[in-house]
Amino acid sequence: MSEYLPKQCGETLRDHKPIGWDGRTLKEMLEESERLLAETGCYWGLKTLPLKTNEPIRYEKIFAKLRGGLVNARETAMNISASPIVSEIGELCFAFYTPEGDSVALSTGIIVHVHTMSDAIKFMVRNDYEFNPRIRPGDIFSNNIPKIGDVHNSDVQTFVPIFWEDELVGWAGGVTHVTDIGASTPGNVPVGPISSYEDGLALTANKIGENDIVFRDHEIRCEQGVRTPMFWKLDERTRIAGCHMIRDAVERIIREEGIDTFKQFIREAIEEGRRTFIQRIRETTVPGRYFCPTFVDLLFKGEKGLPDYAAVDTLSHAPLELTIGPKGEFHISFDGASKWGYHSFNCPPSAMQGAIWVLLTQTVIPNDKVNDGAYLATTHEFPPFTLANPVVKEAATGAAWGFLIPAFTGLVRALSRAFFARGYVEEVLSSYGMTMNAMQGGGKDQYGRDTGILNFEVSCQGVGARAIADGADYCAAMWNPEGNMGDAEVWELLIPFIYLGRCVKPNSAGMGKYRGGSGYASLYAVWKTPDLVMQNCGDGSVFPSPGIFGGYPSASGYRHNVLNTDLLQRFARKEPYPCREDDPADSEISRLVKGDHLFDCRTLNYPYRMNHGDIYYSIYRGGGGLGDPLERDPALIEDDLNGGFILPRYAESVCGAEVRRDESGLWRVDSAETAKRREEMREERARRAVPVRDWLVSERERVLAGRMVKEVRVMYNQSMDLSARWGRWFREFWRLPDDFRFSEADDLPPGESGA
Ligand code: MN
Repeated sequence: MSEYLPKQCGETLRDHKPIGWDGRTLKEMLEESERLLAETGCYWGLKTLPLKTNEPIRYEKIFAKLRGGLVNARETAMNISASPIVSEIGELCFAFYTPEGDSVALSTGIIVHVHTMSDAIKFMVRNDYEFNPRIRPGDIFSNNIPKIGDVHNSDVQTFVPIFWEDELVGWAGGVTHVTDIGASTPGNVPVGPISSYEDGLALTANKIGENDIVFRDHEIRCEQGVRTPMFWKLDERTRIAGCHMIRDAVERIIREEGIDTFKQFIREAIEEGRRTFIQRIRETTVPGRYFCPTFVDLLFKGEKGLPDYAAVDTLSHAPLELTIGPKGEFHISFDGASKWGYHSFNCPPSAMQGAIWVLLTQTVIPNDKVNDGAYLATTHEFPPFTLANPVVKEAATGAAWGFLIPAFTGLVRALSRAFFARGYVEEVLSSYGMTMNAMQGGGKDQYGRDTGILNFEVSCQGVGARAIADGADYCAAMWNPEGNMGDAEVWELLIPFIYLGRCVKPNSAGMGKYRGGSGYASLYAVWKTPDLVMQNCGDGSVFPSPGIFGGYPSASGYRHNVLNTDLLQRFARKEPYPCREDDPADSEISRLVKGDHLFDCRTLNYPYRMNHGDIYYSIYRGGGGLGDPLERDPALIEDDLNGGFILPRYAESVCGAEVRRDESGLWRVDSAETAKRREEMREERARRAVPVRDWLVSERERVLAGRMVKEVRVMYNQSMDLSARWGRWFREFWRLPDDFRFSEADDLPPGESGA
């Protein structure tokens, strides 16, 4: 037992009866579990699965009861009491954990959190919460700190320990994405904090209740700490109600099956998860090293009110490398990632694990039987002091998704190459669409109440093209495969905006033999708010959703908001008003509205004032394409044109299509003319082509001379400085001198902490 622990609550350690199994403390259980995994390679040393083998039907029944209890808890809790983000879009999930914090089963929903909650439970175990503040029946704990175990601070977690007699049999955990977290700028993905001290309300895995009742001081702290306390309270009740329903379900299963069987079951379920994952990797992929870097732009230069070290434009490097071994080993490395920064996009390891988890459940293990077994079958490397593992306490994490989402398109592309190589063509996907524009803001809503805004239409983006078909249009987000856009009428009730239009956004998807799923766009008028600030949040100058196998990336975003408009006068005069912007080169918004047009690629902004009658435009992104667009079936291009998925001039220049309108106004593609034109385009490509050998020589000279934009030089300097291994690889690849580095004049100024 941990001898260093002081006396707690007048009780000596000798008197403490451990709450783990077989007389162990939780910490001893965790250490034993880790030791057995390291020694035997199996979870808790389980070389065989006797319950599953000898009583397979019973084993599956117990699993179904547990899983049913979790899904039931989610569906019921969100309909009893929840904020609109949770009830409309389903931004919640529940899971059941072992006493030492490994997930056994999970509900539907934002399953990205299944492993983050595992991290938070293990944090409590490692920090001896068993002794102080104690873990007892009826206790309630809560956490929202990514460095402890979370993705970003707005995802608030609740934990309820489940006891059987004197032993902890496991934990119920639930998470919801809250409306506002009380950060230095309003909303729930705050792009504003430049240090963790601005990230808002901090629940550092705190005990927030006893005897199933929330402490009043916790409630007061939250009322004071967030902008939308009513929604906060609703969501907290949702999480607690769900956890209590799970506790009931678990107790029922134990009464029916017996405690020993239940204990055996939860360990076998995790070991089965581990084995299934390895088996799937061995069956469906070709071993090898897969490099899939992505680049993320963070543009803050010129933002007023920021210190010089934060008001900078940067490009972030997410050099994802997946190594698959012959025995199903699965290793993800971000060696060479960019340095953490003075913004809220820093991504602690728990967040990175969350992304790995949610993507594996959509690729390798797309079934209901997923748990931490899959986590235990994988290894990872997130180098310290990078965006993928900021380490430093002051690194803000409020918008960790902003790095996470683009960074992990590489995992989908890496897996797709591995599947394709093995012949599993149906499993292949290009990269998913970014979760952008993450419209963000706050102030007063149309009822005069304090509000934090993020329209969760954002959980509905285009997904990547497949190797056998186009990607699904506006359907989900990488972090919530069940996401949807919600009803416009409901959003109008919730946020001080009215819809002028909502429609397909042409050219948002990446073109290819198969195109990515399309994005869409919403055009809003700011409505009846006396006090509002808004932001755009998204990519504007890079392509974070690349194509695959010759497919094009999906479009980067732009901003077109209008301040001080004449919209209200137009309404009064019954004149036309804009409802869409199909082609920014011939903008309906510009044609039909006078005012101050913010029409540019500054897609990441600090909050600025917007008033009743101003216009806000939000483009939701498309997925990457797959294969050469010159191979796209002319019939599909006709559908693209008639559905508004591509602008005619791009059907010509990108796909080589000869297009015209017929008498009924429908677009037609002339197959024979298209074939001819494509032949010419291929010849033109061949004329332009340069042997790779020659290209490398000229490109090397460019690298040596540093002929590239400053942000790229800064980015590579950071990668070389933070990782000797990555630096060696970069220098060897380009055959550069051993001490090569771009000029120090390019480096960023040191920040508050001197780093
Ligand atoms: Mn969230």
